[in-house]
Amino acid sequence: MVVPGSRGLLGGTFDPIHIGHLAIAEEARETLGLERVQFVPAGQPPHKPGRPITPATDRLAMIALAIEDNPAFELSRAEVDRPGPSYAVDTLQSLVDQARGSGRQPELVFILSDEALAGLPSWRNPRRLLELARLAVFPRGLVSSGGSDRPRVDTAWVTEQFPGFEDRVAFLEGPRLAVSATQIRERIAAGRSVRYLVPPAVLAYITDHDLYTSDDRRTNRS
Ligand code: ATP
Repeated sequence: MVVPGSRGLLGGTFDPIHIGHLAIAEEARETLGLERVQFVPAGQPPHKPGRPITPATDRLAMIALAIEDNPAFELSRAEVDRPGPSYAVDTLQSLVDQARGSGRQPELVFILSDEALAGLPSWRNPRRLLELARLAVFPRGLVSSGGSDRPRVDTAWVTEQFPGFEDRVAFLEGPRLAVSATQIRERIAAGRSVRYLVPPAVLAYITDHDLYTSDDRRTNRS
């Protein structure tokens, strides 16, 4: 059953978008009955300083190509159009304000991996974020993720970190695709195939624009 007015949000760098992103967005849509899922690429990711990020125009174009055949998926420019670092809590607050401004009760679900959830305590205003949106958490399935220095995130962890917010966090089984954008960039730089790891149109875009073939081609322009 689709919950009218419900919105899922998947924020990230999307450098590039890959099947892992698409699969968790679709799983959240179906499992939680979301009317739409918005992909929200970060302008200037606060959690990834130092690494050169592909220009926003390319990341936006690749997302648009990847989602064009799914009528429930949308691309949001909210974070790339906002100057300064992108904070999820600000994006959620503006969506809540917009919905209330047009007389609707917002029903927001922020989609993220367990790996990202483990970092939530260091995000800007995480309690406010949990008030503004429910969380849908997916296991990442990466061999390298959840390493020994990372806490195991489950409901007990939520109780410890954010007591009283347990009902706001849903742990979903997920498709567990062990794909990351880092792995895709590294494979391309090494001359290896990423076919089937990104949609065909995204692969064509990467090839046509010669993305990720070497680090010095990548700039911070957006
Ligand atoms: P990078 O390797 O560059 O760090 P990424 O693959 O983690 O990139 P992001 O754009 O940073 O991609 O991811 C956006 C969100 O999607 C984050 O919450 C991230 O943890 C989650 N995510 C990315 N890939 C997967 C996957 N394969 N399974 C589950 N969640 C994923």
